[in-house]
Amino acid sequence: FTFTYKPIKDSSGKVYAIIHAAMDVTKLVRLQQQKDEFLGIASHELKTPVTSIKAYAQVLERMISNEGDEKKATMVRKMDLQLNRLTGLIGDLLDVTKIQSGKMTFNPVEFDFDAAVDDIVDEMQYISSKHKIICNLNSNAIVFADKERIGQVITNFLSNAIKYSTEAAQIDVATFSQSDEVILSIKDYGIGISEDMQHLVFDQFYRVDGNLQHTYPGLGLGLYISAEIIKSEGGRIWVNSTLGQGATFFFALKIKSFRSSNQVQSEL
Ligand code: ADP
Repeated sequence: FTFTYKPIKDSSGKVYAIIHAAMDVTKLVRLQQQKDEFLGIASHELKTPVTSIKAYAQVLERMISNEGDEKKATMVRKMDLQLNRLTGLIGDLLDVTKIQSGKMTFNPVEFDFDAAVDDIVDEMQYISSKHKIICNLNSNAIVFADKERIGQVITNFLSNAIKYSTEAAQIDVATFSQSDEVILSIKDYGIGISEDMQHLVFDQFYRVDGNLQHTYPGLGLGLYISAEIIKSEGGRIWVNSTLGQGATFFFALKIKSFRSSNQVQSEL
């Protein structure tokens, strides 16, 4: 049951009655649990066949590349891209069920923050050649966190920057240290987010305005998962934006130590 109390006052402000309301929420809670369980089971069941189709697609890709048939090669590459999208969506659904059941696990390791950002940017630059990603990686920080999960947040920021700036060609990625924190910023010059919506973008299922949803597909889970990851790692996450002029997404994590200058040369 949930209980609510509302005092009723007379014109002098004196309370002369209290309304008590009790609502039976057992059914609602059970429905919510069933929905969460269904989401977990469905995404888990979808993962297995998709993983196996992906493996077959990769074998097919190799066979076709030996044949030298460019048309078939393009088709199988497109199939692989869509499969990657599907794998990402299923991964997001699985992450949401993990968050909701408190079962998202973290395996912290010490890693070089700038080098990790650089690797992900290289990968994304390879996938999306339309945007030029410009890096200014100056934190020199070593952090102690789950490298995969932090990578997931950086990938999410970058893929959003690419997705929501179809008309613009540049994305700026920067890292720097400020007191005991390392800060990452990813700036795009795309559609931006109005001020009154900025506090909503990290909510579960929040999506771009209705009539733009076909242009920019998605489930509205990436930033919610990113925020959960950063909060679980003891960090902060936020956005700065002006509608129509692009958006800059940030997160900050505690610095463990600083890299020595010799390492800078060898690793970047
Ligand atoms: P999705 O992209 O699947 O909708 P996200 O959780 O990643 O889900 O983002 C939630 C919403 O935040 C998006 O639908 C969009 O409205 C807004 N958003 C996220 N990144 C950007 C960006 N770089 N520029 C403009 N809007 C953004």
